[in-house]
Amino acid sequence: MSATIDPDTAWDAFSCRDRTFDGRFVVAVRSTHIYCKPSCAARRPRREHVAFLPDAAAARAAGYRACRRCLPDAVARDRAAVVAAAALLGGDAAPPLAALAAAVEYAPHHFHRLFHRLTGVTPAAYARTCRADRVLAALRGAGNVTAAIYAAGYAAPSRFYADATRLGMTPHAAATGGAGETLYWTRCATSLGPLLLAATRRGWSRFAFDEDAPDLRAAFPAATLLPGDAALCARAATLVAQAAAVPVDTTLPSPVRRIAFRTLLHAAPNPG
Ligand SMILES: [Zn+2]
Repeated sequence: MSATIDPDTAWDAFSCRDRTFDGRFVVAVRSTHIYCKPSCAARRPRREHVAFLPDAAAARAAGYRACRRCLPDAVARDRAAVVAAAALLGGDAAPPLAALAAAVEYAPHHFHRLFHRLTGVTPAAYARTCRADRVLAALRGAGNVTAAIYAAGYAAPSRFYADATRLGMTPHAAATGGAGETLYWTRCATSLGPLLLAATRRGWSRFAFDEDAPDLRAAFPAATLLPGDAALCARAATLVAQAAAVPVDTTLPSPVRRIAFRTLLHAAPNPG
């Protein structure tokens, strides 16, 4: 939400009904005294008849009424529901979709679409990234695979092994600090901060914001670490660009957006 939205940017977003701008400003139509979301499906008024205001409260204070078609007041509620759901998905026992939607008082199908539209990923994919983070932490803490499965809250080993494929190494190797593994790493700038990407010969192993080589060393103390070659750096840059191109609600809290971004990175094919 910006009080200083550039009018040309706002007009462009309004003109093409760009949903990613919903919640960042509202469009007040002087001729009808109604305010809308940027994505409202209604016919576009002439530009000289609209004003771009920071939010619904500002529009109401200026005497405008909410559009009954696009329901601009629902944007804040939608965002709050997605943030609340993200917290549940990051917890020890991520609820299935029906329970998740019920917890934030939405219908399951509608909430699934809403979550995907705002974060760029599904609730299940988001939950998987949170679980995979716990897998590595549990492996490092437990020192062996069987103990880690239960420490990470898994009822069955099969799901644990499925999530552990993201490590780019066997769970046993991760539990022993990456012994016998070589990690090739690089860093890329993103709109969410500097990102470290590391891969083994099996595939991507780690995507971590605000990390540098010493942090990678702490995560895998027994592994060999080497700077990635030009090919790896190019693949990393392509991967980051693909994830950055997915439309998301940029007003979501940064921690939620970072998990969603790493989820998008994991969704891409491995470097092989
Ligand atoms: Zn509208």
